Amino acid sequence: MTIRAKSPHERHLLDDVLKSHHCMNCRLCCKYGPDDKVDAPLFTLEAKDRLLVDFPDRNIEFRQVGILWQIVLKRLEDELKERYICPVYDKKACQCEVYEYRPFDCVTWPFYIMRKDKRVLITLSFDCPVVMRANTSFLIELAKFKIGPFMIEQARIHPDLITEYHGHAKILLDVTDKLTNQNQTNAQKV
Ligand code: SF4
Repeated sequence: MTIRAKSPHERHLLDDVLKSHHCMNCRLCCKYGPDDKVDAPLFTLEAKDRLLVDFPDRNIEFRQVGILWQIVLKRLEDELKERYICPVYDKKACQCEVYEYRPFDCVTWPFYIMRKDKRVLITLSFDCPVVMRANTSFLIELAKFKIGPFMIEQARIHPDLITEYHGHAKILLDVTDKLTNQNQTNAQKV
């Protein structure tokens, strides 16, 4: 199954807090410092194969993470600070070249679903200046009712989307019970 950003449901997940003009004027995301290289996006097998067909000459590499594939970032040579960039980010046009089938992490960024001490959490990257300015209780509501349910639904299909908590993200919500309850309900149905 491909995780895409095409459906109206997915497209409007972050509309309450992040508008397209914010992203167009920012140019921060899709680039990573040495500490958050581990957050490079994870692709499904289908999306990875499609990307390799679309960019046959670009030497794009992936490393396998469970049943998913993490794209290998490129070092930004023209910057003094150590930084990395997604190889399908078009620096001139300031846009994702695979937007149509960009992976889950990019659909939900700056929100993550993470595991910490056997708990599953919705967290927020410190890197998005727009979302970081939003009121925390508003962000928790968003995590509870909009972005969280979508992330939980996808994490049930691909548990490898739940990454280890590394301390570089703000904890918003514990969703362990929601994930577990639904898993139990599914198990009962089987
Ligand atoms: S896949 Fe697209 S949106 Fe995701 S990090 Fe790469 S360039 Fe950015």
